[in-house]
Amino acid sequence: MPLILIIDDDPMIREMLITAFHQENYDVMGADNGKTALDIFRTEDVDVVITDIIMPDMEGIETIREFRKIKPDAKIIAFSGGGSLAPDGYLKIASSMGAQYTFQKPISIKVLSEAVKDLLGSCKKKL
Ligand SMILES: [Mg+2]
Repeated sequence: MPLILIIDDDPMIREMLITAFHQENYDVMGADNGKTALDIFRTEDVDVVITDIIMPDMEGIETIREFRKIKPDAKIIAFSGGGSLAPDGYLKIASSMGAQYTFQKPISIKVLSEAVKDLLGSCKKKL
C-alpha cells in the first residue's frame, strides 16, 4: 500500500485525516511538526506528503523546501487555515516551493483523497 505522511500540529485534524486514509486502506504515518516529519521522510518510503503550513518549530513552507532537497520528485499536498498572511498567500508560496496541490481549510476528505490518487497515478506503487 502507498504510504501517506500527514503533518498537522492540530491533533484533531491530524487524527481525522489519519483515520480517513486508513479507511481507504493506505498506510499512514502522522507528525505534529516539520522536524518529526523530516525524520520520518528520511527513513520511510513516503509516497505522498500532506502538510499543514502554520506549525510551531518548523512551519510547512520550510518543511516543503526540505522535502524537495531530500527527494526532488516528492509528491506534496499543502493546506492552510491562515496566519499573518491570508491562507491564499501561504498556499501560493507552498505552490511555488513545489506543492502539487494546495487547499484551504476546512479540508474536504473527498477532495484530498482525489488529489492523493492523482499524485499516486504518477508513482510506481498503486492501490
Ligand atoms: Mg497548524
